Amino acid sequence: MEPGWVWLCGAGPGDPGLLTLHALNALQQADVVIYDALVQEDILTWAPQAEHIYAGKRGGKPSAKQRDISLRLVDLAREGKRVLRLKGGDPFVFGRGGEEAQTLVQHGVPIRIIPGISAGIGGLAYAGIPVTHRDVNQSVTFVTGHDQSGNTPGSLDWQAISKGSQVIVIYMGMKHIAQIAGALIDAGRALGEPVAVVTTATTAEQQVLETTLGTVVADIETAGLEPPAIICVGRSVLMRQVLDWQGMAAGDAPRDLDPLGRGRPAESA
Ligand code: SAH
Repeated sequence: MEPGWVWLCGAGPGDPGLLTLHALNALQQADVVIYDALVQEDILTWAPQAEHIYAGKRGGKPSAKQRDISLRLVDLAREGKRVLRLKGGDPFVFGRGGEEAQTLVQHGVPIRIIPGISAGIGGLAYAGIPVTHRDVNQSVTFVTGHDQSGNTPGSLDWQAISKGSQVIVIYMGMKHIAQIAGALIDAGRALGEPVAVVTTATTAEQQVLETTLGTVVADIETAGLEPPAIICVGRSVLMRQVLDWQGMAAGDAPRDLDPLGRGRPAESA
């Protein structure tokens, strides 16, 4: 890392093993690390030499304003620091990394972007759910469950998403899951369509709920699940019956070797 530069870096969904080598290098070289709530704090032990600045919401305190964070990055860079801005998942996926990077460039600060593993892909993989599967989907849609004002995004065309995408991966969806599930059902998705809710994915606290569009709201309530969660709607969720690799590592047998009912070995054409 060069003094005066900001590295805007994804930390992955939680498991420190999912950091990139570039992220690890940056952690070891940075003078200062500014990290978000979704970054697992044990990742910071890789940066003992650096100052650690927390820039998220904690203990009910209001979150640092986005503009303040961006300007803080500008100030630190201008002081000649090697600045590592560490964000959960991938910095450019629902993480406002684009806005921070833009502010830095507007202030003449040199940047480097290091992608990370996004929760909507890597988090589902840790639950044994492949985000695409040849027999299920040729496209996948990533959506956010709330907009800047905290409401369900009115700009999302649920009819179009419902028709156009066999698999829908929802970030920040817990608060408005009732409206989202309702909108998808109204748009023609079946009540029995498989849904998975994966909370604190890739960490030791990971929980996975397998449910359906018709029962997801009640089941989240019953299970007492809390954010952060990735919600996946679509038949790829069924693959967990054969690919729950964490369960299998703990001794569980696969529940169904052919959950999509292909009736033929997976490798045949
Ligand atoms: N940039 C991040 C997403 C930030 S938005 C990424 O690429 O993953 C924050 C949302 O991401 C959370 O509300 C949740 O929906 C999801 N998320 C992030 N980390 C998660 C995790 N470990 N487990 C489940 N969901 C996670």
